[in-house]
Amino acid sequence: MKTIPAADVCTIGRDITITLRKRGADAYSKASYPQQFGVYSEIETTDTVLRFNLNNEIVYLRGRGRDWPHPQEWLKRTAGNDWIYYSTGGYTGVVEAIGEYYLPNTPYPTNSLLGGRPFLLPVVQELTACWHSLIHEVAEQAAAAPADIRAFLAGALANSPDALENRAQALFAISGSRSTVLPPDCRHVDYDVIPLAVSEGCLYKCRFCSVKSDRPFRQKSEEEVDRQISALQGWFGQNMANTPSVFLGEHDALAARPGLIAGTITKACSAFDFQAANIKGGNVFLFGSVGSLLDAPDGLFADLGSLPCHIYLNIGLESADQATLEVLGKPLRAAAVVAAFKRMQEINRRHATVEVTANFIMDENLPAGHYPAFLALVREGLSRVSPKGCIYLSPLRVGRPSRAMVMDFHRLKILSRLPTFLYIIQRL
Ligand code: SF4
Repeated sequence: MKTIPAADVCTIGRDITITLRKRGADAYSKASYPQQFGVYSEIETTDTVLRFNLNNEIVYLRGRGRDWPHPQEWLKRTAGNDWIYYSTGGYTGVVEAIGEYYLPNTPYPTNSLLGGRPFLLPVVQELTACWHSLIHEVAEQAAAAPADIRAFLAGALANSPDALENRAQALFAISGSRSTVLPPDCRHVDYDVIPLAVSEGCLYKCRFCSVKSDRPFRQKSEEEVDRQISALQGWFGQNMANTPSVFLGEHDALAARPGLIAGTITKACSAFDFQAANIKGGNVFLFGSVGSLLDAPDGLFADLGSLPCHIYLNIGLESADQATLEVLGKPLRAAAVVAAFKRMQEINRRHATVEVTANFIMDENLPAGHYPAFLALVREGLSRVSPKGCIYLSPLRVGRPSRAMVMDFHRLKILSRLPTFLYIIQRL
């Protein structure tokens, strides 16, 4: 990790404090209090806290007034320029349900079963609309501040809402499109990932899936991957040091050639300099499918296990019940799903730094065989409880929170011998 110079703190009048190079947590961890990871700058006023990444782009907002919903709730801006509202959920059952202490509320429709509608609150709407004017007001009062504080404020002002939206579009263009869904394991790094695609499209084009791309599966060439790596270094700039994680896209990176997968991760770890990051550890997240998992040779997992990073591979199994696969329009045999589940357990046992996780669908209207077939794998199919190889239950329908489904989830979670959580679909 780099040595970070001591933070510069500047107080303006009685109400404004600006801190440059403030150090947050240097490792990802789960905590029941809000954490900021990496190194950042902060403007604190009587009413608001604003935080910025190392490119002086706003990444965090929190109101301090009495109308702010909760002192431990905040807004985070993603690399794709979405504001996400993190709520405590009253601390009742959130961590059991999603494996994290804070519940992400997205401004776009998703399949979450929990949470409220924070984006309808006037105080939240106002803060997401006026943060740039707040920086302007602070900059006017900071005319006599030290040069590095004024330079920071000029940079933060240049990163206007329009400029940030253009930056997000430029990021999507590097890999060819926006990542419409990130693997659920990205929760371990708060979804802060560098999107690097080794492929596009997927093998199955399942009928139920709302995030698939229309493009047929295609593996990218090494030249395309190299071009992305160099463009991503430019795009992330200084803030690369706060982002030691890669999402290896797109929907089925595991279906790419093994040499391309391991070679790309090796290049990315070195080009993005995970070793020097402000947050410990390097992580790679990717999706695979039943077919690509069953076809992947042992040697690939041995290679992945020898890389200097943690690999999280998420497989869309959806159901081990044939009638359910047919309802979902997933062109697979249940026997192949069962074989993929067994392969997943084997890889998790053999390779300490590779974790294969799986998604299954949840819905009230699935065929009667779906949950028994699920439990035949995650309960009867395992002789003991294992802490590795999370199972994510993914509600089928978008925008349909449901108490009854949450109860079903808890029943299945208690019976499962693997860590089991709800999957809230988030995009880049
Ligand atoms: S569930 Fe996976 S394989 Fe099926 S269409 Fe969606 S992205 Fe493709």
